[in-house]
Amino acid sequence: MSRLLIVEDEPGLLRALADGFRFESYEVLTAADGESGYRLAKEQNPDLIILDLMLPRMSGYDVCRKLRSDGAATLILMLTARGEEADRVVGLDLGADDYLTKPFSVRELSARVRALLRRAKPPNTSPDELRYDDVHIDFRTYEARRGEHVLDLTRKEFQLLRLLVSRPDDVMSREELLDEVWGLENYPTTRTVDTHVFHLRSKVERDPKNPRHLITVHGIGYRWTP
Ligand code: CA
Repeated sequence: MSRLLIVEDEPGLLRALADGFRFESYEVLTAADGESGYRLAKEQNPDLIILDLMLPRMSGYDVCRKLRSDGAATLILMLTARGEEADRVVGLDLGADDYLTKPFSVRELSARVRALLRRAKPPNTSPDELRYDDVHIDFRTYEARRGEHVLDLTRKEFQLLRLLVSRPDDVMSREELLDEVWGLENYPTTRTVDTHVFHLRSKVERDPKNPRHLITVHGIGYRWTP
């Protein structure tokens, strides 16, 4: 689960963003001014900071510049007001990773956040094959067997499994799985993920009713336990 810090001095917007991201299963920290935002960033080491530009006590610029000069590699997404073209450029110069102009939709912000987090992940960690018990799954050739018995996995089930296996014991939210396996093009729902996990489990678990590897984390998503 990724940890976000939202620094925004407009109380209504701060609350809406915090609620929205918590609903998507992020861990959310909030600050209403630049100074406490900077302090929280140092203390809590979030994965990503959503940082408003115009803030009391210390501006978003200064927070960004200070964090970068401290050597912090945390992702920073700047929020700017409409028309602050020059400000955006300065923000990116100071080391922000992306920016979004107000007003924006929470959906758009959420997509940007996911994209930044995804890009920041180390590449090429996905395994080529998986072995456990007497199961052998080859993700390159899309072949799966339990002993001599062929497991008939669909392409999406292979992709979903490969993703979960690439991050053992790491809980992945339904939204994350949707983004990674289905992308944005088809607009499936999180139910789609549940259905695929259900089918996948019936194939890769010896006792699907008491799964030992493909585990449901209630209210959040799924994880693979080797
Ligand atoms: Ca502001």
